[in-house]
Amino acid sequence: MKHIVPHDFSVKKEQRNRLNGHGSFLIWFTGLSGSGKSTIANAVEAQLLERGIHTYTLDGDNVRKGLNTNLSFTPEDRTENIRRIAEVSHLMIDAGLVVLAAFVSPYAKDREAIQKIVGYTNYIEVFVNTPLEECERRDVKGLYAKARAGEIKNFTGIDAPYEAPVAPHVQIDTMKVTVANAVEQILKAIESKLNI
Ligand code: ADP
Repeated sequence: MKHIVPHDFSVKKEQRNRLNGHGSFLIWFTGLSGSGKSTIANAVEAQLLERGIHTYTLDGDNVRKGLNTNLSFTPEDRTENIRRIAEVSHLMIDAGLVVLAAFVSPYAKDREAIQKIVGYTNYIEVFVNTPLEECERRDVKGLYAKARAGEIKNFTGIDAPYEAPVAPHVQIDTMKVTVANAVEQILKAIESKLNI
């Protein structure tokens, strides 16, 4: 950008990581609404807290109600939603946090863009793979019933697409795996990034 010359701050991510005693990166949970993203992300965060890791969780509740309150669920706004979340995540990674983000994020190109923003090595993708029928059966927030009734438009899985990740770092089949097992799987996958 023109006329924006970055200041060379002397305190950098590496120093913050050293102070905290662990690395900072983003754990991105993608999957259908009701697949279990928030449940698993919260359980992972609780485990990390136990271990003295500095964390923050971003999800629809704290982002759509504030920063992204002006965005809808059209494809363009979904892309902008994810872009802003990725930028916030990038700042939080720089601040030394392990960021957990739980968003449907249905488009492969948007998930690709996140990696460009935060850096490929700072990104761990967790695909919470629960079949639509099961998410609809759970209908945690009653949203599927509303979408089927036509009260909600552009609802992922009903009248908007979900592009499943082809090569996620972690894949969780919540029909077969308990929340505790899912947490174990994820902790194993991030072990090397936590260690500095
Ligand atoms: P999302 O954040 O993906 O919209 P939630 O985490 O809010 O989904 O809801 C998922 C629901 O599925 C919760 O009620 C949770 O208790 C339930 N559930 C059942 N089995 C599992 C599992 N193995 N892993 C995660 N969630 C599960």
